[in-house]
Amino acid sequence: MNIILFGPPGAGKGTQAKILEDKYGLKQLSTGDMLRAEIAANSFLGNKVKEIMAAGHLVSDEIVLEMIENRLGRPECMKGIIFDGFPRTTAQARGLDEVLAQHGKKINHVIVLKVDEDALIGRLESRIAQSGGNARPDDNAETLKHRLNIFHEQTKPVLPYYEAQGKLAEVDGMQGIDEVTAAIDGLIS
Ligand code: AMP
Repeated sequence: MNIILFGPPGAGKGTQAKILEDKYGLKQLSTGDMLRAEIAANSFLGNKVKEIMAAGHLVSDEIVLEMIENRLGRPECMKGIIFDGFPRTTAQARGLDEVLAQHGKKINHVIVLKVDEDALIGRLESRIAQSGGNARPDDNAETLKHRLNIFHEQTKPVLPYYEAQGKLAEVDGMQGIDEVTAAIDGLIS
């Protein structure tokens, strides 16, 4: 079973992905986490994307697609994958379908976490407070606004692509963590 968790920054995609990973033995593939690991490793790719990410822009479709493609065939992905923060453009969605097909896989569910965007600032503030001084460079109110704009302009247009495939389902992401998990469970089990 392969799932996409879809929603704006701060919607709880990462939190739910980790829970589903443990519960169903699926593998979370977070392009944001992969890119942050590249930056932490001071790699060529990390240096290339560092400023782009800190400013809250999207990195290129080619870079993220290649990172995903490199992982699809790994043993830990055999039971299924939870895509978190990917795809973020329609080009990425089309590219994902192509590489999945090459591995004999497909997307089963696209779960949209619906959230009140005014509340996202509050969630972001608690994420910064919990980070113990190690907040992500792109976690600040100004960059969040830019990331939300990008979400509306470039990422939301991905939804009709999956709607046409009959794969979309919505969950109220303003509920507590357990309630959101239960709602997702109801959709996928
Ligand atoms: P995230 O952790 O998913 O919020 O991603 C953090 C940042 O990484 C984003 O603001 C982008 O700069 C970059 N990023 C992560 N995933 C993607 C993606 N699928 N396409 C383009 N850029 C991405």
